[in-house]
Amino acid sequence: MTITPDNAGTLDELEVICRQRGGRMTRQRRAVLGKLLQTKRPLSAYELRDMLQPEDASVTPASVYRCLDFLVEHGLVHRLETTRSFIACDHPDHPHAVQFLICRQCGTVVEAEDKRIAAAAERLGHRLGFALDQRTVELTGICATCKTEDTAATPCV
Ligand SMILES: [Zn+2]
Ligand SMILES: [Zn+2]
Repeated sequence: MTITPDNAGTLDELEVICRQRGGRMTRQRRAVLGKLLQTKRPLSAYELRDMLQPEDASVTPASVYRCLDFLVEHGLVHRLETTRSFIACDHPDHPHAVQFLICRQCGTVVEAEDKRIAAAAERLGHRLGFALDQRTVELTGICATCKTEDTAATPCV
């Protein structure tokens, strides 16, 4: 298994965090996490399978899903419902409610941790009698870069 030098340090750190949370980082879990860190963009389980298979023929979509479930459960990866994909967490050192801003045009995803939004969600749940178990907020739109390019590309009539 090849781990690129630029994310090997991070992978080792994440393995420690994982162990502290009672999880065991297997070779395949580490490989899945490595790809997510390397690409820095959300990937589907099938994309991951295609990337991993040349290095490890035993990889199947089902085994990738099992790895992803584990990584999500241990707070190292987030699941994006909007795009049915997975992304490495930006601040895995602590558990957090997360908000994602997803660009419809280029697919860029920005992870934010706004405590006011998390608190507002908690209050809303409480007011309507819901005990929340999933606090992720996904917001979609056009990112700053795409917005600028759009404006530049459109000639003024
Ligand atoms: Zn996160
Ligand atoms: Zn964009």
